[in-house]
Amino acid sequence: MQYDLLASPIEYLKGVGPAKAVLLKEELGIFTFGDLLLHFPFRYEDRTTFYQVKDISQLTQTVQLRGVIEEMHESGEGRKRRLVAYFNDGTGVVQLIWFQGVSWVRNTLKTGCEYIVFGKPQVFKQTYSIAHPEISPLEEEEKTPAGKLQPVYSSTDKLRLRFLDSRGINRLLRQLLEQIQPADLPEILPPELLLKYKLISRNQAFREVHFPPGEAALLKATNRLKFEEFFLLQWEILRNKQYAKQQGAGFIFKNLGDFFHGFYQDHLPFELTGAQKRVVREIRNDLLSGKQMNRLLQGDVGSGKTVVALLAALMAADNGFQSCLMAPTEILAQQHYRTLKELAEGLGLRMELLTGNVKGKERKKMLEDLYQGHIHLLIGTHALIEDEVRFRNLGLAVIDEQHRFGVEQRARLWRKNTPAPHVLVMTATPIPRTLAMTLYGDLDVSVIDELPPGRKPVQTFHRSDAARLAVFGFMKKQIAEGRQIYVVYPLIEESEKSDLKNLMEGYDAIVRAFPMPEYQVSIVHGRMKNTDKEYEMKRFVDGITNIMVATTVIEVGVNVPNASVMVIESAERFGLSQLHQLRGRVGRGADQSYCILMSGDKLTREAKKRMHTMCTTQDGFEIAEVDLELRGPGDLAGTQQSGVLSLHIASLSKDRRILEAAREEALQLMERDFTLSQPAHQALRDFVNRKHGAGQQWGRIS
Ligand code: ADP
Ligand code: MG
Repeated sequence: MQYDLLASPIEYLKGVGPAKAVLLKEELGIFTFGDLLLHFPFRYEDRTTFYQVKDISQLTQTVQLRGVIEEMHESGEGRKRRLVAYFNDGTGVVQLIWFQGVSWVRNTLKTGCEYIVFGKPQVFKQTYSIAHPEISPLEEEEKTPAGKLQPVYSSTDKLRLRFLDSRGINRLLRQLLEQIQPADLPEILPPELLLKYKLISRNQAFREVHFPPGEAALLKATNRLKFEEFFLLQWEILRNKQYAKQQGAGFIFKNLGDFFHGFYQDHLPFELTGAQKRVVREIRNDLLSGKQMNRLLQGDVGSGKTVVALLAALMAADNGFQSCLMAPTEILAQQHYRTLKELAEGLGLRMELLTGNVKGKERKKMLEDLYQGHIHLLIGTHALIEDEVRFRNLGLAVIDEQHRFGVEQRARLWRKNTPAPHVLVMTATPIPRTLAMTLYGDLDVSVIDELPPGRKPVQTFHRSDAARLAVFGFMKKQIAEGRQIYVVYPLIEESEKSDLKNLMEGYDAIVRAFPMPEYQVSIVHGRMKNTDKEYEMKRFVDGITNIMVATTVIEVGVNVPNASVMVIESAERFGLSQLHQLRGRVGRGADQSYCILMSGDKLTREAKKRMHTMCTTQDGFEIAEVDLELRGPGDLAGTQQSGVLSLHIASLSKDRRILEAAREEALQLMERDFTLSQPAHQALRDFVNRKHGAGQQWGRIS
């Protein structure tokens, strides 16, 4: 195999070095030359013109300035420490301000030197300032003058402080593309497709997407790359499906015995809905087919997927096989464990909970019992996929909330047994049909499209922060009626200080408005110790606390039927599917439930649409369609981040036509030359194999 320059570690690129390499890895997931190449611009800006300081007004958006740093001042200490540089362009002065990385910036910038600065000015006491601007020495700029289509790359504060802002990243790409030869970016698409769709070469496309010579060329470059991305994705999905069909002998679960019948007749506390029954039949047919089951079970929050999973596990147990159920969070795994234990009480089904918290002797014993086959159903977090977890005969793997797991993780569960266990993937994220086919093209799909009887629609209101007192009053009334309440705060990254501060302030405000001993308030967030979290959750589940203040750690799966009000703070910061998930936490009991979306007054058009959608519909599929329209499925329920679907340039919603063409071509090619053995497909085969050999992320294009 030829030497693959694109696989070179990013620190070997000129201008990167060890410190920047670490940042690129941590902040952007860029490990190799190839990863950098795939860090596509998300838009382009005209940077041929410079703004003048005298023209800046309150209405000014971003500006590009050219001038000199006259002097720098440092002030404050610790967290208040800051650096101010006075930047003069001959028409006036703006202040450039840094709150972080002060020493480094101070040592790097030179007074008296010319710089180009880019950023958004803000006004304070009649002076304009730009916080954490993009800045680069004019000298360097002149070497690579910015064009009309200057690419804009996503970056982060940490990177900007090391001058790896958008321009900095573009500089690295220039360096990289100088080093890369056309042979490093060989054509991989079959020649007939290049002709048919008039696609430009791969080499040219990568160069021009980062350095577009003009609008038309840019369009050609992005089209080519999108087609390629979709084509490879579809090829992979279809190939997996083929592979599963050809190879996938599966255990036959012939018997329905004491576990299944015993449960169904004596333990099931309710009548299954028609949709649940249908899905159970579909699963049963799969388990009898002699082929490995690979089924996606879609069902809105609260539609009753858990009991379906249990029924499948009972079928396995009746045939002498073990099962496992993997959940994305510790809290959800615990909840499943508790619910299932209660449901299956007295059946003699041995269930255990394995998470990262099970340690030492206890863990050893559990793993030993598992290996000996004494455990019927193992429930847990991703701890389950670790190599030390060995089953005696794993016959069924259930994965809850699929979108949080990658395809690779799914595959690791498969490998726990030969032949591979049956796989049931459950998700509460409703996905429009066309998309399901694309995202989960390798799975068969079942849908629970009916909620258990007696559920009343959750009444949803949107309130501004100013109405908080009225909302508190409403909460008090509900508590007086014996109901419980969730108050949820966004905490996007569980490490974000400002979010945590908001949460704690919110909690304090609630404790003040709902004082002890009349009221009890719990709090749960991701940075608490597990034992504390559990304790607080339990108090809420047991009805001891009236209000649960929490971050999205409660998002998935907790079940407290007596909770009837969901207050979502800063609701504008949540995506639709997340709002829908959160709302699904209430409305599980017989009482009328409410969801109150709190937000500031000023909302973007998109945020308004999200609020409006939430207030007017409860239909998960309708919500998914709007979500798709608003932000595209790249983000759908976090698929992007988790690597379930890592599209770098194409968008499933905006580029549907390209997607359909690519899918059709992948299908046809699969029929013509499944093994890619024809000479014209050699390059594609090498590429696909290499990708697998290197164990790279699924869906990558390079
Ligand atoms: P999800 O699909 O969101 O995982 P769950 O499995 O947690 O939903 O079920 C939500 C609630 O509905 C649980 O309290 C469960 O016991 C209850 N439930 C499930 N199926 C039925 C049914 N057929 N009739 C009545 N209640 C049901
Ligand atoms: Mg669930």
